[in-house]
Amino acid sequence: MKMEYAYRLPGIGEAVLNERDKKYLDFVTEKQLLSETLWKSFTDVFRTKADDVDLGWRGEYWGKMMRGGCLVYRCTADKRLYAVLKGAVLALLDAAEADGRISTYSRSLECAGWDIWCRKYVLTGMLHFCDICDDNKLVERILDAMELLLERIIERVGTGAGQVPITETSNFWLGVNSCSILEPVLDLYRRRTKERFLAFASYIIETGGCSGGDLIALALNDDILPFQYPENKAYETMSFFEGVLAYYEVTGEEKYLRAVQNFTERVFETDITLIGCAGCTHELFDNSADKQTEYAETIMQETCVTVTWMRLCAKLFLLTGEQKYADRIERSALNALFGSVNLFDQKITMPKSGEVRSPLPFDSYSPLFMNSRGRGIGGLKHFSDGTFYGCCAAIGAAGLAVFPLISSLREPGNKAWELSAYKRNGRIAFTYGPYVLARDSVKENADIRLPVFPKQKDGRLCFTLLPPEAGECLRILLETDTGKILLTDYASCGKRWADHGGILSVWLPCER
Ligand SMILES: [Zn+2]
Repeated sequence: MKMEYAYRLPGIGEAVLNERDKKYLDFVTEKQLLSETLWKSFTDVFRTKADDVDLGWRGEYWGKMMRGGCLVYRCTADKRLYAVLKGAVLALLDAAEADGRISTYSRSLECAGWDIWCRKYVLTGMLHFCDICDDNKLVERILDAMELLLERIIERVGTGAGQVPITETSNFWLGVNSCSILEPVLDLYRRRTKERFLAFASYIIETGGCSGGDLIALALNDDILPFQYPENKAYETMSFFEGVLAYYEVTGEEKYLRAVQNFTERVFETDITLIGCAGCTHELFDNSADKQTEYAETIMQETCVTVTWMRLCAKLFLLTGEQKYADRIERSALNALFGSVNLFDQKITMPKSGEVRSPLPFDSYSPLFMNSRGRGIGGLKHFSDGTFYGCCAAIGAAGLAVFPLISSLREPGNKAWELSAYKRNGRIAFTYGPYVLARDSVKENADIRLPVFPKQKDGRLCFTLLPPEAGECLRILLETDTGKILLTDYASCGKRWADHGGILSVWLPCER
């Protein structure tokens, strides 16, 4: 069936970029996407079956970064980037086995751990490259290779004799990670309409996405909330629902759109925090909308979650044209995502090796209450040469591109920005337009743990807008009963965590 879309994603070079967008796109291009060393590391793991050692996810990096690279290229039309991406595609095609299998797992260990997840990202990355590729012959070669890649999965995964059910192909998260291959399976089906591919997608849909319950039925019934689902891993679950949306786009069956919209609204209501990410307990849905005011010793607000939330909202925006999805993308980009970008060249000492190096281009976790950035590298895996990478660093580029691509389509807003305070659980937070504000102990050189009692005049907060300093978008002096406090945009706070330490906080105590 022919699906009607409200908007089409801008083509190569069509997106309208402002100076801020260019700054971030240039940063990720230079620091990451043009690195042939990195692409070689990400490709070599397929040749050496590097994930055999711990049933790991080194095989996700290539496809995640390729998707990001292709979306960034869509924005910038940078020919150098195209050449590097094309080289990486050719190198991975060469790493395919004789029967077309492409995996970082040996056959004796395949369909376990994160194998299907990693192959999902190969499909995803390759199909994104097809969208920007200027060589029809190469597109056909890639699609041939992706057909073989998928055939090798379909013959091993299912309910037939000698096959492994898709929800049993991983011992993590009840198999939802594997089931998220749904989206690129349908993407390939749209390009090569083989009924076997649609049947495989329908089989994944019938499993409901995990071994512990039918996630689609749960979303349709709308009785329990995403943080109460049988598995609550935020990133992988959203990634599965991206696939459910793709199933709607192919079949036109309205209930799948309804399931995704229900899921998305409940995530928004119960788990998306002020900065536009989810999960305040590790990387899990956990009713973060409420928990975001608490101090968390553990990691929280994973960058992979930010980007996947933005992507899910982007798909719903293109499909429905509803501006609320673009607003949510903006909130996530300006706050959680931009905050995670390690713009400054700092030096960190690695805990085990003592090696001194720069942080990865993206931080993995974002604090909300009295904590610092740089709290660990999510999805960390080492390569055989001792170097390493992380899941969030590999996904970030996609977010930096999705934001301007979608912003280019939205209707211009003319609402005046206001400082309006949010109160929850005895804490207070401030936003100005789409920006979340925070206190930063280094910028203020003050104890930011002390409670604040904002002054009001005629029901309005009393504040002064100051010229932003380098790296900032907003600088506000807020009058309180005990003097003025400095609030600046969240993304600019705590950025020199490796050099200066210090803490930042979105939520501030406000009770005596
Ligand atoms: Zn991550």
